Amino acid sequence: MTSHTIDKADRYMFHTYKRIPVTLVKGDGCRVWDENGKEYLDFVGGIAVCSLGHSSPILSKALYEQSQKLVHVSNLFYTEPQTELAQILVENSFADRVFFCNSGAEANEAAIKLARRYSREKFGSGRYIIMTMENSFHGRTMATLSATGQERIRTGFDPLLEGFRFVPFNDLKKLGSSIDESVCALMLEPIQGEGGVVLPDPDYLKGVREICTEHGMLLILDEIQVGMGRTGRLFAYQHFGITPDIITLAKALGNGIPIGAMLAREELNDAFGPGSHATTFGGTPLITAGATAVVKSLLNDDWIENARVIGDYFRDEFRNLQQKHGIIKDIRGLGLIVGVELDTEGAPFVSACMERGFLINCVQERVLRFVPPLIIGKEEIDLLINCLDQIFKEKEI
Ligand SMILES: *Cc1c(COP(=O)(O)O)cnc(C)c1O
Repeated sequence: MTSHTIDKADRYMFHTYKRIPVTLVKGDGCRVWDENGKEYLDFVGGIAVCSLGHSSPILSKALYEQSQKLVHVSNLFYTEPQTELAQILVENSFADRVFFCNSGAEANEAAIKLARRYSREKFGSGRYIIMTMENSFHGRTMATLSATGQERIRTGFDPLLEGFRFVPFNDLKKLGSSIDESVCALMLEPIQGEGGVVLPDPDYLKGVREICTEHGMLLILDEIQVGMGRTGRLFAYQHFGITPDIITLAKALGNGIPIGAMLAREELNDAFGPGSHATTFGGTPLITAGATAVVKSLLNDDWIENARVIGDYFRDEFRNLQQKHGIIKDIRGLGLIVGVELDTEGAPFVSACMERGFLINCVQERVLRFVPPLIIGKEEIDLLINCLDQIFKEKEI
């Protein structure tokens, strides 16, 4: 497949991304089109970003109207949209305080800085280690890749930031025995997304919460991928009967416009006083007006309930496929984050789906990951399931 854009991109940009050879030019709801007019059903959704779908009129309207009023002024001043979004996030979560930034990695950076600073003020120096999980993903900046428990992401960038200690996910014993006086916090994804859609065992997160409380450690949940309704609740932690101290958000918070946020309990407020942390673009009026409209729609328009219902349907349909095709090893997920582990490499199936007009994604070599817009319906699920049924059948011949 050749195209002017692809040739040019390969000529002018770093090859940091292993891109699928297609140039997308337009999107509407759960569908996108390439430069040749070919239509695709999108089960990637910008990687769990475009929850209200592409070209959301709700987002367009909010951005257009705000762009005519005030785009940017600096955080030296107060603005209405930023304040409104913070209030909505606080009123719908455990949290009392919000810090806005531009991406997931930055939200995690803020959480790491806050945890260290809070701990230093409360306990003195020497208590700065943050426990994180093997197979985790927290971002690509120096601090967040240092916190990421995947060798392939860390390799070549030494010296990494000091102060992270890894333990296996779903292993309370190992966690308990790895903690000492130098540990100030634990950061983990409630469901590992990039790690292959790995769910916590029943009561694992409750155990994690107990260990954190017992040792005076902060519990930081990275909800960048699974927050904002993806799992069928506004936040993933709400499924597990726990209250974290800090959560980080990004991806679906803006439906595609760049925004991240760190939310925390009141007790942490003083550790992030004037001058402690800042960003030029974090929480500009334009972006927060857009995100406010997005979050209001998520809260009021039944999309989170849809994520729950359609997610269950999606996994049921995969279980039916599993009866027919031995290639499916495991089916995992919660709401509309769905992982299907194959007993072989997933990449050929991503290509085969693309040829037939479906965008899907593969993580950890063998796990097909589906994170479509939350507005998706049963008809679209059926189309994909039928397509995969055909593809699996052909591979078996
Ligand atoms: C995507 C993601 C990040 C990084 O977000 P960026 O906006 O790419 O910096 C961090 N943590 C998790 C769990 C993610 O899925």
